[in-house]
Amino acid sequence: MFKVGKYYTKKDIYSILNVPPSKQKGAWDTGYREYKGEIFIFINIGVEGRTGHNYKNFWHGDLLYWQAKNNSNIKQPLIKKILNQSIKKHIFTRTDNKDPFIYEGLGNVKEFKDTTPVEIVWSFEYSSRPEKLAEEIFLKNLSEGKHQKILVNSYERNPYARRLCIKDFGTKCYICGFNFEEKYGEIGKGFIQVHHIIPLSEIGEKYIIDPIKDLIPICPNCHAMIHRRNPPFSPKELKRILRTNNG
Ligand SMILES: [Zn+2]
Ligand SMILES: [Zn+2]
Repeated sequence: MFKVGKYYTKKDIYSILNVPPSKQKGAWDTGYREYKGEIFIFINIGVEGRTGHNYKNFWHGDLLYWQAKNNSNIKQPLIKKILNQSIKKHIFTRTDNKDPFIYEGLGNVKEFKDTTPVEIVWSFEYSSRPEKLAEEIFLKNLSEGKHQKILVNSYERNPYARRLCIKDFGTKCYICGFNFEEKYGEIGKGFIQVHHIIPLSEIGEKYIIDPIKDLIPICPNCHAMIHRRNPPFSPKELKRILRTNNG
């Protein structure tokens, strides 16, 4: 129904779920809603980093800390359903009110606090094998100033794998060392793309992604360059090319 790591607007979500116009908006805009026996939770999260803990909703590693509505308590029927492990909870997040939501997958309640508001720590079952291996995205090639169509495989867009990769490597470009926070300050914090280094042609049925061995954080320029060839250059090759051309 929804694909982990993909972006969805509320409009997309209504259309995928076939929500009639009379049932749109309202509770959908309040943070969580039950629809046809499943629960849909929309979470605005603080940006990762030093200040992350000042937000009520934030990622800590691969766990998502979340506060329900201000007046929530565990006796409320909807909260009871959220805590019920056998009811599916679809979790969507975004870091900016204007962005579409990212589908994080089905959340499992790892811990909860019987407080008002109710606090829940979500964990996610992570599918190491996305349904579609390759997808085309347009990546703006900043060096040439034009859009280049590249094949990016969906491992690169799996938010869970991405977080594990960044947790290990940080958000500095693995190839050229570019750090968006250093260059752009606050708005650059946490910004980086992720590249999957195993060529799609080498991925067999039994392949399971290792977010730390198989993924590297990469800036959009290096990302565009690494995909200049198909199969992509290896990180080592691209590093060498960069070195050779810059003395
Ligand atoms: Zn780079
Ligand atoms: Zn890539």
